[in-house]
Amino acid sequence: MKVNFVGHKPASNWVAGFKESASTKKPCRFCYIENTDMENVHHGIDCSMRSKESHTKDLEDVLKTGITKQCRRNLSMKTGVVVESIFSQLSYFDVTKCFVSDNMHLLDEGIENLEVRKMFNKLLTNEMVDFDKINAKLSNVIPQREFTRPPPLRKDEILALTKLSMSTSEMAALISILPLVLSEYVSSTDNAYFANFFLLLEIVSSLQCYSFAEKDLLELEMKIKIHNSTFVSLYPKEDSGSAITPKLHALLHMTEQIRMFGPPRYSVCYRYE
Ligand SMILES: [Zn+2]
Repeated sequence: MKVNFVGHKPASNWVAGFKESASTKKPCRFCYIENTDMENVHHGIDCSMRSKESHTKDLEDVLKTGITKQCRRNLSMKTGVVVESIFSQLSYFDVTKCFVSDNMHLLDEGIENLEVRKMFNKLLTNEMVDFDKINAKLSNVIPQREFTRPPPLRKDEILALTKLSMSTSEMAALISILPLVLSEYVSSTDNAYFANFFLLLEIVSSLQCYSFAEKDLLELEMKIKIHNSTFVSLYPKEDSGSAITPKLHALLHMTEQIRMFGPPRYSVCYRYE
């Protein structure tokens, strides 16, 4: 039976019985990747996947009687597993696979917002764009989502690299018109930041398809691999930690998710939110 659960990551983690925040050594509920490896692994086949069996073992360790609270907490930090999910009682439900990522939270709220602010930060600090002109153009182009107009980009947020104040639908509208608006200044052949953003747009479009052949999924895996590895070199993390966020890492599992549950557009949270 193909049943899945969608929601934003903290909520899905909570219902799945994983730590809600990414402050764990292994922040992915699909695989056992460690925070320190996320910059180097860019293909799903290179991840050691969690399974129903391995999850049962992790749970047994965390729920063992006679261990101290601190020991239990340390075990949870190590594996990300906290409690048994109520969904585990369903024999056909595998908590390591059925809490899927959805396009709205993964892309529009997460990765797109991250890459747009990082790209603009580079374009602005290298004086490659006229910011006021960009905002004037943005206000004049009608996006594909004609009833949602993106608000002006805020220079303070871009320079501080803080999350852009936009709803998920505004972000989806913004990225549909950004290539047109930016084409006066940069192209994908001479600007690596814009080229990687353009590749992200291809990935986003692919993830919205109504059907997938195996060759489409293999091509998508390669695009994700190139995108994420290029992201690490374009936007290296200056302090400790990884340039690859848990959401960027979750992209690696999207093709396997599609093989198991079909096109993600049928389980996107826009339907419920
Ligand atoms: Zn993973």
